[in-house]
Amino acid sequence: MAKEQLGPYVVLARDLPVNRSFDIPGTLVGQWLKGLPMRDALEAPDPDPDAGAGHAELELYSEETHAFAVGTFKGHLHVACGRCLTDVTMQLDERLHVTFMPPSEMPADDDTVAADEDGAEVATEDLDLFPWDEDRIDLEPLFREQFVLAVPYAPLCREDCKGLCGQCGTDLNSSTCKCEKPIDPRLAALKDLKLPS
Ligand SMILES: [Zn+2]
Ligand SMILES: [Zn+2]
Repeated sequence: MAKEQLGPYVVLARDLPVNRSFDIPGTLVGQWLKGLPMRDALEAPDPDPDAGAGHAELELYSEETHAFAVGTFKGHLHVACGRCLTDVTMQLDERLHVTFMPPSEMPADDDTVAADEDGAEVATEDLDLFPWDEDRIDLEPLFREQFVLAVPYAPLCREDCKGLCGQCGTDLNSSTCKCEKPIDPRLAALKDLKLPS
């Protein structure tokens, strides 16, 4: 029987328990983030070996029908500043505690909100549940999620980024331009009014 090619992030159930580390290259990070507006705004080459990187140190074990991945995930990724489009580096430093369970036991979407003792709704999505087939763990969806969730809606290169001039595109952080501030159109009409002499 030919030896099966396993993906780099697949661990066979028969190899559990095991401690393993995983590296995620920039080209894969770039592929995963493709389509996110603040990633595409960088206009990076495709594939992009400098899109970011990741490193996971995980303890993997199983118990009956469930498997667990516990450990650390560190890395970084590059996106564009939402105001001036300059390159912003986001750092990732997470503790992972993930449960893999048979798809039939995965909670339906409706069940992912539970009520606590005060009756308030608590999202249980941070329990980090992933499906598996009890034969192998595929960690790729877990790693991909770390990068995708680390991209803010509007990343900023710095808190007070002045952004680009809306008229000429000059980066107002590093220079100024001669564009006049757009004035109220009603005032503009007054300015053009020829007064009788
Ligand atoms: Zn900026
Ligand atoms: Zn300008």
